[in-house]
Amino acid sequence: MARGAFGQGDFGKLTIEDVEIKGKRVFIRVDFNVPLDENMMITDDRRIRSALPTINYAIDEGAKVILASHMGRPKGKPDAKWSLAPVARRLQRLLNKEVLFSQEMHGKGVKDTIGKMRPGDVLLIENLRFDPGEESNDEKFAQELASLAEIYVNDAFGAAHRDHASIVGIPRFIPAVAGFLLRKEVGYLQGVVSNPVRPFTAILGGAKVSGKIGVLENLIDKVDKVIVGGGMAFTFIKAMGYEVGDSLVENEMLELAEKIRQSLIKNNVRFYLPVDCVVAQSVEPQAETKLVTWQEIPRGWKALDIGPASVKLFSEALANAKTVIWNGPMGVFELDAFSRGTFSIAHAVADAYALTIVGGGDTDLAVSRAGVSDSISFISTGGGASLQLLEGKELPGIAALKDRK
Ligand code: AMP
Repeated sequence: MARGAFGQGDFGKLTIEDVEIKGKRVFIRVDFNVPLDENMMITDDRRIRSALPTINYAIDEGAKVILASHMGRPKGKPDAKWSLAPVARRLQRLLNKEVLFSQEMHGKGVKDTIGKMRPGDVLLIENLRFDPGEESNDEKFAQELASLAEIYVNDAFGAAHRDHASIVGIPRFIPAVAGFLLRKEVGYLQGVVSNPVRPFTAILGGAKVSGKIGVLENLIDKVDKVIVGGGMAFTFIKAMGYEVGDSLVENEMLELAEKIRQSLIKNNVRFYLPVDCVVAQSVEPQAETKLVTWQEIPRGWKALDIGPASVKLFSEALANAKTVIWNGPMGVFELDAFSRGTFSIAHAVADAYALTIVGGGDTDLAVSRAGVSDSISFISTGGGASLQLLEGKELPGIAALKDRK
């Protein structure tokens, strides 16, 4: 595992370091959408910790720090289940200083609280999605939020692909710049696509081809090797004319999958699919399993993990890589019976002497369960946003920020 210089550079937008924030009210949009258990306990606080560099910088510079985030899908109205109160408590512990919490997102009450804040004080306002205006990108809601502050900072990479009020609306009213996490995410994910150290290997997995096909299309002339595992492999295998039993297949994607495979091969990209798989008749912890080659998947059985020969093949394909991106698990890793392929590939990626970048969502969970998070160069905090960058698209939340002249 080697660390690269990505993530620090200039990405064409002003950052929090480029503006005077001393004594000013600074609205930092963060992504505190963390998983909670049934007792409202945070089970993974990585997203909170990832925002600390920006928050600490703003505190040290003497800004009055107003933090805002979404969490879950509360449907535009207050819902105690999705309150950010537990996040405020965790943040207080991580910062080792008081974090004020406001149940109101805007209006007189919160303005009075902000009016009493001193430089370096921190306030977290309640879940933005408790107001329908957040997701509908309501102009008035955005203006209300903007009126709380003098400067807006976007550090919510995981939400930067959304056209929401706190992402694209507020920047219409006050100067908007990037936070350190946003800059780092874009630096890695855009950097790897535009200027990879070769050989460059992409590993894609997960449930569906449809979610990742845009990434493959964008990488056709950029990668040296593509490894496809997980459920999405079976659409490719079926498109090549083979039977795949009851494995996950997106019939409407067959033609496009085959077209992309052909384009990759035409571009001299080595394209790897699983050669063996673990099959079962149902996706259940106690299901009977068999190990078969991919030509032998029995009728009524589904392939739910890659087998040991595939792990060997994929690991060898990774061995000489200098850059690796990985998005999507190799199987239904949530169940022990189908997790071995994903965890083995996590180890292979961690052991590669390469710049290794893992896409958010399920893959970061897989890497963390495999116990190798610390050996990965960069783990993205955004699922959808990281895929959009790998597809070569600009994110609305980044487009909305002030350009560096
Ligand atoms: P995605 O969000 O597209 O990355 O998909 C992640 C999900 O894909 C995980 O929840 C896995 O359980 C699931 N998955 C991976 N491999 C398979 C497979 N062979 N069949 C069905 N689901 C799978």
